Amino acid sequence: MNQAISGVGTAHPLLSNFIDGRFVDAGTRTFENRNPVNGDLVNLVREADASAVDAAVAAARRALKGPWGRTSEQERAVLLRKVADGIMRRFDEFLAAEVRDTGKPASLASHIDIPRGAANFNVFADQILTLSTETFRMATPDGAGALNYAIRVPRGVIAVVCPWNLPLLLMTWKVAPALACGNAVVVKPSEETPTTATLLGEVMNEAGIPQGVYNVVHGFGPGSTGEFLTRHPGVDGITFTGETATGTAIMKAAAEHVRPVSFELGGKNAAVVFADCNLDKAIEGTMRSVFANCGQVCLGTERVYVERPIFDAFVERLKAAAAKLKLGDPFDKATTMGPLISQEHRRKVLSFYDKAKAAGANVVIGGGAPKLDAPFAEGSFIEPTIWTGLPETSSVVRDEIFGPCCHIAPFDSEEEAVTRANDSRYGLATSIWTENLTRAHRVAAQIEVGITWVNSWFLRDLRTPFGGSKQSGIGREGGVHSMEFYTELRNVCIKL
Ligand code: NAD
Repeated sequence: MNQAISGVGTAHPLLSNFIDGRFVDAGTRTFENRNPVNGDLVNLVREADASAVDAAVAAARRALKGPWGRTSEQERAVLLRKVADGIMRRFDEFLAAEVRDTGKPASLASHIDIPRGAANFNVFADQILTLSTETFRMATPDGAGALNYAIRVPRGVIAVVCPWNLPLLLMTWKVAPALACGNAVVVKPSEETPTTATLLGEVMNEAGIPQGVYNVVHGFGPGSTGEFLTRHPGVDGITFTGETATGTAIMKAAAEHVRPVSFELGGKNAAVVFADCNLDKAIEGTMRSVFANCGQVCLGTERVYVERPIFDAFVERLKAAAAKLKLGDPFDKATTMGPLISQEHRRKVLSFYDKAKAAGANVVIGGGAPKLDAPFAEGSFIEPTIWTGLPETSSVVRDEIFGPCCHIAPFDSEEEAVTRANDSRYGLATSIWTENLTRAHRVAAQIEVGITWVNSWFLRDLRTPFGGSKQSGIGREGGVHSMEFYTELRNVCIKL
């Protein structure tokens, strides 16, 4: 087997596409993958052109017609568990690759990204073994009746288009259920984070996943690999995680051949902190939800509403906690915040920092780019930032920034808090902080999002539905809900 990556800690000169079980040099152009910590070149990546995407889709389609198409649920569950084991066996390689691509602290990636990337395969191996369908016995005029039962078939070739913030975790969240259901996939990782999806190709081969079932094509979005893949007539369904505007473009591509989509899109998530909360827990949870992964989490909090009696105390304590965040080497255990994904994204986030100042925000902490010594001076680090005093109409309060920042505003009643939390075109997640259980249930029922946390954040049983309301997504994945997207139900009606 030819290898995708030459070794832990070393940069590979060229990262290949993975098509039909092999690393191939399809495509003529390459692009650079840079480490956001110091700007170093991690590797060159081969951009898959239209013919490379054709080859990947054709390989996936062939795989469906081959032995993979005849595997039982039990056989696929065994294979998926081998993939999970394979990731865990090569944990250090996945960790090094993810940290190099994203700059996130190794302490975070070793705790969340890599173990969850492996766990996704085990979760959906379990899920496929318990999947059932409905049966109805119906009456007929002759009295004999008829039996209706549904069968599930794989949807076919699934395009999996991924973002850069949690590359392995979010990619496997789609690939694992797709394979559990017997589909074949063509994955388009983010151009910012191409490595772990590629490394997973080696693991797929080691686990015995047949060739063509898992394919990876590298490149960009519009006019490049992402567009070639999502427009490809050989693709039967598209699952996408990323920005809402990209979702709109992909939905248009999907419309061309009437393909279903599953979308996990952007957010502008609120935290609602009532005066009766446990303030220690609210500060700890809000710290994580604003600053984890340098604020680059779709579920992260960018709007905080705090009941007026504790507003000043909350702002002071969040400021004090944010002041302790330590930027720097992601492999240093003391580092608690890495850089943003790229200089380009830093320019975008800094433009919001400028807008906040121009709109008259009170900058509680941060508000700019830090001055770091070499080798981090070339990194895309940014200051953790808290604002108060902006009107709700400000773009800083309305638009997704995707950086380590939040705006905190006071509220005076439960009704006002609900109204302001819901005043968004997005509807992904909300955290409510209160010790009053009745209030928690009452407020949660009124919040227009896919997931409401009470006294927590980023906690979820993987069997539960996950997705966004409003412009934060289409559909639900997780547990049986994933299976609904990755299979098609067909009815069989037998006259008795
Ligand atoms: P993005 O939309 O810019 O890119 C995501 C992927 O889409 C990349 O692989 C990109 O190359 C590809 N792409 C871009 N344009 C395309 C096109 N026209 N056709 C086909 N493919 C195209 O998103 P990003 O910047 O990588 O990720 C950050 C965004 O993702 C944020 O908005 C965040 O909220 C969202 N996100 C949502 C969830 C969720 O579960 N709801 C999870 C993580 C991230």
